[in-house]
Parts: sequence; C-alpha cells; structure tokens
Amino acid sequence: MNELSIRVRTLKIINGYDFLVKKKYGQNFLVKEEVFEKIVSAAGITGEDVVLEIGPGIGALTGYLARNAKSVIAVEIDKNLIPILEETLADHDNIEIINRDILKVDIDELVRERGIDRPLKVVANLPYYITTPIIMELLKASVKFTGMTFMVQKEVADRMQAGPRTKAYGALTLAVQYYGDVSVAAEVPPGAFIPEPEVESAVVHISMPRANPIEVRNEELLFKLIRASFNQRRKTLYNGIKNYPELNYSKEVITGNIEKLGHGPMVRGEELTLEEFAFLADYFDMESAL
Ligand code: SAM
Repeated sequence: MNELSIRVRTLKIINGYDFLVKKKYGQNFLVKEEVFEKIVSAAGITGEDVVLEIGPGIGALTGYLARNAKSVIAVEIDKNLIPILEETLADHDNIEIINRDILKVDIDELVRERGIDRPLKVVANLPYYITTPIIMELLKASVKFTGMTFMVQKEVADRMQAGPRTKAYGALTLAVQYYGDVSVAAEVPPGAFIPEPEVESAVVHISMPRANPIEVRNEELLFKLIRASFNQRRKTLYNGIKNYPELNYSKEVITGNIEKLGHGPMVRGEELTLEEFAFLADYFDMESAL
C-alpha cells in the first residue's frame, strides 16, 4: 500500500468509526509507508519471532509486524480501538489483542502464561506521554528480549545515545546502555503522522543483550546509585549518594569509594561512564559484604 492510501485509509477509519483521536493517550497514527518498513527492518523481525507491540492504534504497524513475525501480542489501552483493530486485522490469525494499560501488565506473567519459548522482540510507536516509564518497565522485566525498536521523540532518542558530561545524559541513558546497544534507524518528521505531533521523532533500535556486557556484582545497587546521582544532578556525587534515602553508607565509606574512581571529591554523577558506575557499585557492594 502506498503512502497516500495509508493516509486515506487512516482518515477513513477515524471518520468511519466516529473515532475521536485522544491526545491524552498520545495517539498519533503513523501513515508513511517507508517508516513502517524502516521499523520492521531495524527490528530485524523474522518468521521465528514473537513480537510484543505496545499501542497498536488502528493496527497499521501491527499488520506489517504480523506479516513478518510468527505472532504478535498487541497491548492497547483504548477500548474504543478494540472493535476497529478486530476489523482491520481480521485477515491475520497470528495477532492477539489485549485491552490493557501496559504499565499495569506484568510482562513476565504475560510471557509465562503463553509459554513463549522463542526470541521475543518489542516494537512500538510509543505514546510520548509515558515513553520513559514504559521503556524502564520493559528493561526491568526478567523476560529477556532480544531487541526493542521504538518510535520516540527525537529528544528521547538523543538521551538514549548520550555520553557523560552532556545535558541529555541521565538515568534513561545508563539503563538503556546497560541492557543493550543503541542505534538510531531513522529520523521522522511530524508530517509522517495523523494528527501531527508537535515534535520531531526518531526510530531507535536497542539490540539486546549488549555486545560487551557490563560486569557488576549487584545490579540493583548499580541502579540505586544511578538514581541517586541523577536525582539532584547539579549536586556532587557524594551529596547525591549521602542524601538518597535508599542508600545508607557512612561519610567515610562514600568518600573512600568515590576516591577510588580517581576523579576527586567534587565529581558529579553526570561525569561518570557506565563502567565507572559499575566499579562504584562493586566498591559499595564489597563494603556491604565485609
Ligand atoms: N501503533 C499505532 C501507529 O503506529 O500508528 C499507534 C501509535 S500511537 C503513537 C500510541 C498508541 O498507544 C495509541 O494507540 C494509544 O491509545 C496507545 N496507548 C497509550 N497509552 C497506552 C498504555 N498505557 N498502554 C497501552 N497502550 C497505550
């Protein structure tokens, strides 16, 4: 189907079902054919894969995914979209639609219940109002995804790829880079959607697991330290850790462990690489084990 017909079809569906596009759910429907192709190709989907799609909308991307994957599980919050999806996707017998809020779904349970024993990938044109919580939930799940491909605001794609000492560098950067290798597959202008979002977008692919794994003794502690450091990002690393309620270390221990990094006492969290955060977590973990 060419771009014009996807655009016309989308408008027909919206008007034909008297569907009111909901801004509160971040509904911007993708209508550019080459972008669908770029998403599927960046995701590297094969006939072996089960794909979890978040927010299928009216099902345009879902249809592309279903044609390339073994099966698709699509989680959509908006109940008014369910009858539309059932009709637009009626030709496919490898799609399961679940009418739920993805943030309330236990992803591990969802996978366990279905006995999925093959590569699992996530693909989504994400609702921009909850991009970060969704990505964090997916990364935290015990299920091991082999890749995640997302349409996000360009600013979020920049955060995922950022390096130390930049404004974009933060907890999201470190979480994504801990679990996988990030690349941008396409930049997408507002005109590729109906209705048009107010921001530029990008397709990012996170290949998982990371090619060079980060070795750390205590993953939970690593993420506590990261959150502590970026909670008050203008503060020193020392103050961030000292003031963080979930970390209870003495002044001497914190100072001693920061010193071992060789940066000096005034270093801020945003100056540390992911590897340095992992070293720091190991120093604290060894301290707790003594
Ligand atoms: N996949 C479609 C496309 O590419 O055209 C729609 C993408 S639209 C940007 C985001 C979709 O996510 C909407 O269908 C919206 O209703 C859905 N959504 C929003 N919040 C959600 C949530 N918490 N859980 C599941 N779906 C959600």
